[in-house]
Amino acid sequence: MPNDSAQSSDNLTSGRNSRYIFVTGGVSSSLGKGIISASLAKLLQARGYKVTIQKLDPYINVDPGTLNPYEHGECYVTVDGAETDLDLGHYERFLNVCTTQSNNITTGRIYQSVINKERRGEYLGKTVQIIPHITDEIKRCVQILGSENEFDFIITEIGGTVGDIESLPYIEAVRQMKWESPEDTLVIHLTLIPYLSAAGELKTKPTQHSVKQLLEFGVQPDILVCRTEHELNAGIRSKLARFCNVSPDSVIQSIDADTIYDVPLLMKDEKLDEVVLKKIGVDIESAPTADLSRWHDFLNRYKNPERSVKIGLIGKYVELKDSYKSITEALDHAGAELKTGIELDWIHSEQINEGNIEERLGGLDGILVAPGFGSRGIEGKLLSIKYARTKDVPFFGICLGMQCAVVEFARNVIGLEEAHSTEIKEYTPHPVIDLMMEQKSITDMGGTMRLGEYPCDLKEGSKAREIYGVDSVEERHRHRYEFNETYRSQFEEAGMLATGINPVSGLVEIVEIREHKYFIASQFHPEYASTVLAPHPLFISFVAASVKNAK
Ligand code: GLN
Repeated sequence: MPNDSAQSSDNLTSGRNSRYIFVTGGVSSSLGKGIISASLAKLLQARGYKVTIQKLDPYINVDPGTLNPYEHGECYVTVDGAETDLDLGHYERFLNVCTTQSNNITTGRIYQSVINKERRGEYLGKTVQIIPHITDEIKRCVQILGSENEFDFIITEIGGTVGDIESLPYIEAVRQMKWESPEDTLVIHLTLIPYLSAAGELKTKPTQHSVKQLLEFGVQPDILVCRTEHELNAGIRSKLARFCNVSPDSVIQSIDADTIYDVPLLMKDEKLDEVVLKKIGVDIESAPTADLSRWHDFLNRYKNPERSVKIGLIGKYVELKDSYKSITEALDHAGAELKTGIELDWIHSEQINEGNIEERLGGLDGILVAPGFGSRGIEGKLLSIKYARTKDVPFFGICLGMQCAVVEFARNVIGLEEAHSTEIKEYTPHPVIDLMMEQKSITDMGGTMRLGEYPCDLKEGSKAREIYGVDSVEERHRHRYEFNETYRSQFEEAGMLATGINPVSGLVEIVEIREHKYFIASQFHPEYASTVLAPHPLFISFVAASVKNAK
C-alpha cells in the first residue's frame, strides 16, 4: 500500500523508545474511540512521525471472525489474513498503511496464549493469575509493536468502557506501563459531555465520575477528549480540568461532525497533536508541521460533488450499517475521486421478489451485491443479479456476490437449472461454486477459510486488466467456497469470462460478462484495501459506470 505522507525514514524521536498512547473510553460506548485514535494518528503521521494503531478488544472470542455482523459490525481482514475489528479498517483508511494480526488483540487471544504457555510448563509451577500473567501478556502484545523502534508512536485503543469488568486487566496493564515508564506513556480518556435540553446546560458530572473510576484503578488520564453536541465554553473546560486533574489545554472538544473524515481537522483545531507532543517532551517549536493538503483535497471533493448516483447495496445485514462499513467507505472514496455523491439505497435481499423487483431496483444507476454467509436472502440476490444482467445495469459482485452471479449465469444463461453453491445446497447436481478438495476434510470452522492477500493475474484484453492498469494484483480474501473449475469452459463459451486467476492455485478470482455495460464480480474483497488517499480501482470504475448509466 503506498504511503501518503512524507514519513521520514528515521524514527523522528530517535534516541528514544517508541511512545505509547492509550485511548480509553468513559461514560458511554460508541463515542468513537477508533475515529479519535485514527485522527490523532493521522495528525502525527502528517507531521512525518511513524505511527501505528492497535485495538485491544475485551471479549472472549479469539477473533471477531465467528461473530455475526449484527453483533459487532463488519469483520475486517488484514493482508496477513487476520479477521479483526472494524476499527482496523478506519486505521488503514485514515493512515493508508497496512495493519496486521498484531494490531488487534482480544481477551480470548490473550487467554489462549497464556493457557498454551501454562500447558507447556513455561510458568515453572507458578499459580497462573490475572496479575501478573494476563497483564504481562497484554503488555507484551502492546510492547511488541515498539520492540524494533520502528514507530515513533503506538496508539492503543482499549475497547469497551472504563468500569466494565472485562476491561479491568487492560486498565491495569496501562497503569503498570505508565508506572514503569511515565515519560513514554500517555493516556487519553474519551468521554461524553451530555447536553440537558430542559436545563439548557452541558453536564460535566458523568466525566468527573468516569475519571474518578480510572483513578480508582490507579490511572490518571493526561488528556480528556470530550464528545459533545455543543461547544464547550472556557468555564466548562476549566471546570473539567480542575475536577479531573488535567491542564486546561488538555481538555479537547470533540464536537459532532458531518463526516468522520472531518475529525482529524477538528482535532487539529483543538491542538490535540500539539498537546500530545508537548506532554511527551517534544519541543513543539522545532517539531515538524503537519501537511494535510491531500486530506483537504479529498474532503473538498467529497463535500462538493458535481453530480450524484444511486447505488443499490443488496445484502442481508442492511439494518446494521456497520456490517458493510468498508464497502460504504470504499464507495465514498471512489465517489470523492469522481466528484460524485453516492446516494446509497440499502436493499434487504430477503425483501426482493419477482413481484416488486422493478419497483425496488428500477431507479438504480448501479447494483452492488454484498458478501455474506449462509442461505438467507440468496433468492433476492439471484433475482437482483438477473435484473442487472438482463437490463444492462452496472453490476459489481463481491465474494458471495460473485458466487451468486456465477449461479445466476449457470441457471439462466447456460441452462443448468438447478445449479447452486454447495454452501446453500449441498447435493446440487451442478455445484458451480464448491469447496476445494483440501477444504472438504477440515472440520474446524476457523481452518477452512481462504484469508488474507493472494495474488491474482489479470487476463490481457479484459475489463479487469484495463481497470487496474497492471497485469497482476494482490487482494484480500475471506471465504470458503470457490468457482468450480470443471464448469469454466461452459461459462466462457456462454460469455462469462474468468479474467482474474490465482497464478499459484489456478482459482478464479474475477469474472466479467463481455457483452455487458459493466458486469464485474470478484471472489476477493477489494473494499478492505480502499483508503482515502488510494480509492480502489474497482470501486472507481463501478461508480464511473453507474454515473454513465445515470438516468
Ligand atoms: N459464504 C461464501 C464463502 O464462504 C462467501 C463469503 C463472503 O462473501 N465473504 O465462500
